[in-house]
Amino acid sequence: MVFYSPLQNEDCKLQKSKPTSVGEDLVFFNFAFFILHFAFYNDPLMKISAIKTIPIKLPTRRVHQWASLTTAIGAYVVIKLETDEGLVGLGEAPVLKDWGGDHGKYYGETPQTTAHVIGDILAPALVGQDPRQIGAVHTRMDKAIKGYPYSKAAIDMAVYDIVGKALKLPVYQLLGGCYRDRVTIAHSLGLMEIEKAVEEALRVKEEGIKAIKLKGGQDPKRDIELVRRIREAVGSEIQLAVDANQGYPTPKIAVRAVRAMEEYDIRYMEQPVEGIDAMAEVAQRVDTPIMADESAWTPQDVLEIVRKKAAEMISLYTTKPGGLFKAQKVAAVAEAGGLQCNVNGSVETGVGNAANLHLAAALGVATLPCVIPVSTPAGKGKGGIAGIYYRDDIITEPFGYEAGDVLVPAKPGLGIELDEEKIKRYRAG
Ligand SMILES: [Mg+2]
Repeated sequence: MVFYSPLQNEDCKLQKSKPTSVGEDLVFFNFAFFILHFAFYNDPLMKISAIKTIPIKLPTRRVHQWASLTTAIGAYVVIKLETDEGLVGLGEAPVLKDWGGDHGKYYGETPQTTAHVIGDILAPALVGQDPRQIGAVHTRMDKAIKGYPYSKAAIDMAVYDIVGKALKLPVYQLLGGCYRDRVTIAHSLGLMEIEKAVEEALRVKEEGIKAIKLKGGQDPKRDIELVRRIREAVGSEIQLAVDANQGYPTPKIAVRAVRAMEEYDIRYMEQPVEGIDAMAEVAQRVDTPIMADESAWTPQDVLEIVRKKAAEMISLYTTKPGGLFKAQKVAAVAEAGGLQCNVNGSVETGVGNAANLHLAAALGVATLPCVIPVSTPAGKGKGGIAGIYYRDDIITEPFGYEAGDVLVPAKPGLGIELDEEKIKRYRAG
């Protein structure tokens, strides 16, 4: 009988490691048993000792705008979750006050609400608890306060980071293993003049980008013209998609816009209208796949989308359902319903993006290019602008980037470290 030892290499690779002999198997299993026994039984006292919130504001490379956005991106909250054993887990709440699902179903969050919810409600409920019992951590959070999934997602990321560090395993290993060791990214072109959008599309194509997402939703005529101009400029090999961020006022207007874009080959239209019933009206009248984003936060949302045939794709986030633990449940419902997914977010810093990368790495159903930025501290990394939205980042090392893909970090936990000097520099209050 041949067994395979777990991934030990620097990068997350799909190749199986070398088979070991039976003798080595026994040594390995004894060793693994010892580690697990030590981690979970001989060490029953690991406790959350404090959760610190740090509001930050990163400088943007250019204005990044979408139809419903009313504040600048990058004013988010990073957290440090500390344990009595000295381990520190990192998390991020990329909060936006105008990001709240269909018809304000989930409400927006702000750095101030995150600091309040975590500092005054979630931290008191979690201090003294074992961070390794991730399901129980979620139950306590949900009991302590309804809603606020972004605040809870920050804590969820941090406990996964701690468990990974404690077991010396990357987070993707805790989510089911490394399904893909690199994630193809979609470069997001915010709302901007068509000339500028064409210019940026050509530049990122030169830098290896294979998929581009165009923000629209304010003016269908402009969006159709944008798709036409970008397609003419970049040629047929680049995958194009449009995200209207609920912007088209009625399903009929959305249907007309999507049909006009079909001639230029769009991979999908994301969230053309607001509400699952309106999405279903569009989805059933166009050939182009419809992706749900604002309509798809929780497993229950996706179940309704499947039942109403309101989309064929889901924009999966770590944050919308409240963290990695719950994002896996959203993905499971999407997969069961035959929907494709990608992993997207709100242009997070390197902390949230690392969580998104681990999620995308572990989910077989996340087959579509992901809007996960190439988090890059100033003066480091690949250069250029592909997948880059900020002029700097708060992590010490940039994500690896090759030919339109981001490489999945394989160090223990989230696989990142904070640059404390940058945290001081970009601290907002
Ligand atoms: Mg979207």
